[in-house]
Amino acid sequence: MPDCIFCKIISGEVPSAKVYEDDKVLAFLDINPVNPGHTLVIPKTHFNNFSSTTDGDLESLVVASKKIAAAILRATGHDAFNLTVNNGVEAGQVVPHTHFHIIPRFNGDGHRLWAGKAYAAGEMEEMGGRIKKYVEEN
Ligand code: 5GP
Ligand code: ZN
Repeated sequence: MPDCIFCKIISGEVPSAKVYEDDKVLAFLDINPVNPGHTLVIPKTHFNNFSSTTDGDLESLVVASKKIAAAILRATGHDAFNLTVNNGVEAGQVVPHTHFHIIPRFNGDGHRLWAGKAYAAGEMEEMGGRIKKYVEEN
């Protein structure tokens, strides 16, 4: 993808602080980190988002992410991290090349997760049933 910023990072056209590379995966530091050490793990093949990424590439991303996350914790001295995927514009995806965020976390870092809502009576069971049906169709 010629105009993709992450493809340009893979090719070396755009510089990055690389922390891991194998034949399928590249990882580098996010330029605007939630916390120092915030890392992006991407497939070397261009896919627009998580949902359109092949199972094989996702397996490689997950296995590499586990190894990289352990290294981030050792390097930062923290004990926790978030592994996050923003899939689609409404979910906050800005760069249309699949990427996992590994965000090291520590007490008082100020990063906030979602605020949970309540289901109406019966809504959870109804929604669960609908999702289960579509999962079983695939
Ligand atoms: P998204 O919102 O798509 O899930 O996350 C995209 C991430 O890519 C953002 O956290 C942003 O800071 C990071 N990013 C965007 N452009 C560049 C870049 O040119 N270099 C690096 N290292 N990170 C980038
Ligand atoms: Zn790309």
